[in-house]
Amino acid sequence: MLIIGSHVGYKKDTGLIGSVKEAITYGANTFMFYTGAPQNTIRSNIDLDKVKEAHLLMEENGIDKNKVIVHAPYIINLANGELSKFEFSCNFLSEELKRVEAFGMKYLVLHPGSHVGQGTKIGIKNIITALNRILEKDTTNITILLETMAGKGSEVGKNFEEIKQIIVGVNKKDRIGVCIDTCHLNDAGYNLTNFNEILTEFDKMIGIDKIKCIHINDSKNVINSHKDRHENIGKGTIGLETLITIINNDKLKDVPKILETPYIDGHAPYKEEIELIKSKIK
Ligand code: FE
Ligand code: FE
Ligand code: ZN
Repeated sequence: MLIIGSHVGYKKDTGLIGSVKEAITYGANTFMFYTGAPQNTIRSNIDLDKVKEAHLLMEENGIDKNKVIVHAPYIINLANGELSKFEFSCNFLSEELKRVEAFGMKYLVLHPGSHVGQGTKIGIKNIITALNRILEKDTTNITILLETMAGKGSEVGKNFEEIKQIIVGVNKKDRIGVCIDTCHLNDAGYNLTNFNEILTEFDKMIGIDKIKCIHINDSKNVINSHKDRHENIGKGTIGLETLITIINNDKLKDVPKILETPYIDGHAPYKEEIELIKSKIK
């Protein structure tokens, strides 16, 4: 069954119920949300009664909470070894794992981080140190999904090799998965018209079963541009046909597909894009 949804908002007053309601208006059967603003770390207390109510609403609308994705804020940067920033990121991620558990979800998508001039090798080393330290003490059972990045600036995780190196260094490997992002893969230099080959490469290096989420985005830029600017489905350089091939891939059929395409004239494009995708899949 196609499991598709989009990024949705999360507001303090409506909590998770508001996020679920938004997803339903798009005809989605999953969604992704931030537990607060993505660019800051201000987080309100979670109202557990509202979470229960939201779970009920999800059940009534065919949304499986085990397929719902939480995205960690961008400002967590485990790759930066500067002590105060490193400590801050580790502490925030630890707290975020507890919040994901309180929401009753299973997966947290994380940008591996940016090495900010220290080099990829040191960046990867810092990420491994952070993940081991966090998971050592963590009592949740949340899986952290490392997102494949476009390679903008000093981003780490711009190819499967870097993602693999991180996983190899983590002790609790069962707590780590991967989120692939089509725009990021394109911008990182992967030619998505050869998606089967890309998947075979991923399987050999990391294992296909590690893929727990796919971000479906078109790209405003050409392959290998390292830009990371998402485009609406079918309107970018990847194109509808290639995106549909990826969505249709049998080996990834149980993996939730999440749209993170840009708003058009202030309106969310997700209802239309989900309809378009549904009309094209087998
Ligand atoms: Fe992301
Ligand atoms: Fe993404
Ligand atoms: Zn992106």
